[in-house]
Amino acid sequence: MQIKDKIVIITGGANGIGAALARRLFLEGAQVVIGDIDKKSGQELVAEFNQNNKINAIFVLCDVTNSDHLHQLFDTAQNTFGGVDIVCNNAGIAQADSWMKTIDVNLNAVIKCTQLGIQFLKKRGGGAIINTASIAGFSPFNPMPIYTSTKYAVVGFTQSLRDLNDTDKIRVNTIAPGSVDTQLLQGLIKSSPTISQIVDKLGYVPVDEVIDAFIKIIQDDKLVGDTVMVSKKGHSQIISPN
Ligand code: NAD
Repeated sequence: MQIKDKIVIITGGANGIGAALARRLFLEGAQVVIGDIDKKSGQELVAEFNQNNKINAIFVLCDVTNSDHLHQLFDTAQNTFGGVDIVCNNAGIAQADSWMKTIDVNLNAVIKCTQLGIQFLKKRGGGAIINTASIAGFSPFNPMPIYTSTKYAVVGFTQSLRDLNDTDKIRVNTIAPGSVDTQLLQGLIKSSPTISQIVDKLGYVPVDEVIDAFIKIIQDDKLVGDTVMVSKKGHSQIISPN
């Protein structure tokens, strides 16, 4: 799949990994629709992309746990750019003491957004959905049992949607980053010396390597129900369901 002129929704695209992805996709010629609760960062980011009176990107204030907001996100993409080709379900939180909210953002919203994505991608004759999991979706991150549970579930959910490629030409894959230096990770490090030690031991993955993995997933039609894991600097691997 080529990226140029594709219409891409990125949830949680105002900061961190999602913002880096938005920047790369813009440079590759995509039209980007960012859905996020952080209005200030989201609006500043799309302003970078919309120079010379040309609209290449839009920001939609969207809490992914709110179904009405999700519908507005997709409808705005449709009405502004004419459809949706790629959905990146990237919004995520890691808060040790907010179990139900973590499940709502990291899992339930991914499921709802995938359901909506399928409806919209079908209208275009196919497309790609990329769900953001984590290395914690493959090996438990003990200080964060609920975060771990949501990421395992996202991997299983994605793997179970393989047949959509045969029926509707929709490829659903997962990306599983290791530790990336974002506000989410910094918040975790500050919250717990144990987590700080684990992150020190794991080392950081440069965000550009995670974005390269996103690009690979979009472009490589052979990836279906797979995970691209970028566990540490210079190390990525494809994990396929058995
Ligand atoms: P981040 O905190 O930098 O960015 C997350 C974005 O999601 C923010 O812009 C935030 O406003 C937005 N967001 C949070 N709740 C939302 C909601 N209810 N609705 C809409 N937007 C919401 O975090 P990040 O590190 O870039 O994380 C992005 C994804 O990558 C998450 O799914 C996270 O679990 C995953 N991940 C991160 C790391 C890491 O080390 N940073 C590692 C593995 C996986």
